Amino acid sequence: MLQIVANETLAKVECWAAKNKITFNCAKSQMLYVTTRQRLGRPLRVFLQGDRLEEVQVLRYLGVWFDRHHRWAHHIRRCTDRAGQLIHALSRSARIYWGLGSDALSVIYAGAILPVLTYAVPVWVKGLSIKYNTLALRRVQRRMALRIIKGFHTISFDAAFVMAKMVPIDIKIAEMVDRFWALRAGDPEVAGPWLEIDCNVDPSEWVHPVWAASVLVETDYEPCWSIYTDGSRINDHTGCAFVAYRDGNLINERKFHLADWCSNNQAELLAIAEALSWISEQNIPEDARKVTLWTDSQVSLDCLRNLKIRTQTVEWIRRTVWSLRNGNWRVAIRWVRAHDGTVGNEEADRLAKEAAMDEEAEVSFHLAPLTFVSRMSSDASQREWNREWNLSQKGRHTWNFYPSISARRKSELQISYKMTQALTGHGRNKASLFRFGQAEDPFCGCDGVTEQTWDHLINGCQLFEQERSRLIRKVMLTGELWPPDARMLVGRFLDPFSTFINSMDFELL
Ligand SMILES: [Zn+2]
Repeated sequence: MLQIVANETLAKVECWAAKNKITFNCAKSQMLYVTTRQRLGRPLRVFLQGDRLEEVQVLRYLGVWFDRHHRWAHHIRRCTDRAGQLIHALSRSARIYWGLGSDALSVIYAGAILPVLTYAVPVWVKGLSIKYNTLALRRVQRRMALRIIKGFHTISFDAAFVMAKMVPIDIKIAEMVDRFWALRAGDPEVAGPWLEIDCNVDPSEWVHPVWAASVLVETDYEPCWSIYTDGSRINDHTGCAFVAYRDGNLINERKFHLADWCSNNQAELLAIAEALSWISEQNIPEDARKVTLWTDSQVSLDCLRNLKIRTQTVEWIRRTVWSLRNGNWRVAIRWVRAHDGTVGNEEADRLAKEAAMDEEAEVSFHLAPLTFVSRMSSDASQREWNREWNLSQKGRHTWNFYPSISARRKSELQISYKMTQALTGHGRNKASLFRFGQAEDPFCGCDGVTEQTWDHLINGCQLFEQERSRLIRKVMLTGELWPPDARMLVGRFLDPFSTFINSMDFELL
């Protein structure tokens, strides 16, 4: 049955191709049978232009490997292999590698490795619901993390990612896919049903490109009307206003309150749009139809100039300018330096601030800017990472220092291989070597009975008494007791703590 349908469909394609004078290269064509069924019947015999098509298990299309069951294991293995090769090449050139600091390697990860791992990810994101796919991605990410932190290969996934400040890749992918859909479709599912996104409107609503392109083009003339517009974002509130003068006399002023997530730029544009709408509704004799709008926002002018920007407000401005000019208006939108003593600009600025702070005011504009959506999804991914880090059984030594992701993110720790050993507990200390079968006992050389853990090395080992003394003095001077909480060592005492660790002679371990 399937075979018949497939052949009939291809016959239609051939017909269409013949009409349009297109031929297919059968040798380069392949067939992928996509199914949820585990077992297949007889192989399908499907023909294109009389040649039987070769049936394949995976099919590459635009750089993505599709497999029969859409499990994406093949695609993910291709990506991780490729990323693995890149990481290998990076570390093979040892001279360059050792010369590269953690920061440079982080940049290489974000710019070269991550794009390879996440290529076209909205297509195959469902593959992450299969555990070994996620694991394969995390494994290659961990290799990079270990290079960044110069850490031992026994360090757990969880601790390696926290030390390298690297969002676990599956969480990062969820964030990227969220953002993708928000950008593409303004998908309310993604942003939450209460939030609409200020993204480009449907192309059917776009202003004609010629009109859109000429919004800011205007020859010199003496305006009858001068309208000053301004937006303001202050204490997480947003507002805007315009002030209209005719021949120097104040005729009208209006202010607008925007939703708190709106940006200053959205406010600036809204002020321009509202001002244009207002003047277009006035009954003005033809000889006085000359207006100049003044804004102190260069960004707004750039938005109007950029034809890729098609948001509701920008299109509203373009449409209004177009209809005003159709009504024999001369319209110019110009830049004025802010806080330069221009009365109109100062007044618009004052009103915009007032509107922003007026929480009782009706909300005139509520669409959320994409930056807000981005921040929301990256906040969400940080929360998820934090939750995972707190629930994990692994990397608890590191957790004592950084019990939250934000603590690690804020920290100004300079990575060194010694610091990484101290903060992960993995390395040349005997407790760690013993745990992984590389030492005969876990005991420290200082007394022969205490386990040589990093807690011991930091807090009390006699081998490093001299190096530790300065750190203890610093701690005691602030009134704290020795040993202080691990979080303090990487917090307020980070400097003397790093000096202590980096001055330790690891040959003595
Ligand atoms: Zn000791």
